[in-house]
Amino acid sequence: GSIIGILGAGQLGRMTALAAARLGYKVHVFAPESMDSACGQVVAHHTQAGWHDLRALARFADDVDVITLEWENVPTYAVDFLARHVGVHPGAHVLAVAQDRVAEKSFANKLGIGTAPFRAVRSLDELNRAATEIGLPAILKSTRMGYDGKGQLRLNPGDDLTGAFDAIGSDEAILEGFVDFEREISVVTARRSDGTMLSYPPVENRHRSGILDTTTVPATLTPAIAAEAVRIAETLATELHVVGLLAVEMFVTRDGRVLVNEMAPRPHNSGHWTLDFAATSQFEQLVRAVCDLPLGAVEVTAPCVMTNLIGDDVDTWPAILADPQARLHLYGKGDARPGRKMGHVTRPLSP
Ligand code: ATP
Ligand code: MG
Ligand code: MG
Repeated sequence: GSIIGILGAGQLGRMTALAAARLGYKVHVFAPESMDSACGQVVAHHTQAGWHDLRALARFADDVDVITLEWENVPTYAVDFLARHVGVHPGAHVLAVAQDRVAEKSFANKLGIGTAPFRAVRSLDELNRAATEIGLPAILKSTRMGYDGKGQLRLNPGDDLTGAFDAIGSDEAILEGFVDFEREISVVTARRSDGTMLSYPPVENRHRSGILDTTTVPATLTPAIAAEAVRIAETLATELHVVGLLAVEMFVTRDGRVLVNEMAPRPHNSGHWTLDFAATSQFEQLVRAVCDLPLGAVEVTAPCVMTNLIGDDVDTWPAILADPQARLHLYGKGDARPGRKMGHVTRPLSP
């Protein structure tokens, strides 16, 4: 096939479309967002319609040879409907797990993979019970749709649980025990339909105000912990039958355990360094995986650090361009609202 459909129209879709174009594919995008979104600017065709618009979905599916996605919260009914017309990778069965923090952690635990202790919280009663059983500090999160730390509250001993439950404002929440981690890491694994897999090495992530700030490549880990992180990501990708990418965010505890925080079946912000310092970018790897091409090499070409440009950080672009070491990526978003991901820059780590 020569036309790839992408669900979602943000910067992840934009960078996937650019990688697809390099391999000779055309891209059509389906998303409720407007045409001048980050992705809309670089694709051949953009269907702007809602996820419930079955007629628009059917036309989109008929126009493309395969569908992938850049946003894991596409409603599963829309993905199921599309899949009656054309292959959708990753499929609705993967999204159903990745969209729901309780399902995600339960899935990991069933495979013997550790997570923070957690309880589903659907009422104030359940929150009180969960707080007693798990203990505080803990983090209360909405079960679905959160990103960049939105929809989360840290609860400390003595905090007002009634107020916290009201503030979350969802009858589907999760209470997670607070993990006093040594570092946060992630692994991006690519998997083809024949089960072939390749993983980028674990990278280390630092957050600022709940948003990813920097990714350092590779993460500083013992070989055993690095191998364990890769084993976890590959086990999850295999057991979920992922075709495409699976990004797994993990905590490394002070006593050397690796716990899964969450996973995303798509390109991941912590994989942006691969555009400039890996043999194959995560975006090209996604295209290869869903188009049934051989996967590319995942070697790190140089240790590096990726820094997100959030909100008006993007105003520093002239200085970044003047730095011969820096690789600048801007997403073409007009409005630099606070907290909005406007671009990123990757630099080799000085020895
Ligand atoms: P993303 O933008 O990565 O999708 P998100 O909004 O889905 O983020 P999480 O990844 O669950 O949220 O949490 C955001 C950050 O908050 C984590 O990267 C970590 O730094 C911190 N955090 C989340 N859960 C815990 C926990 N149980 N214990 C300690 N820190 C946590
Ligand atoms: Mg998340
Ligand atoms: Mg996260």
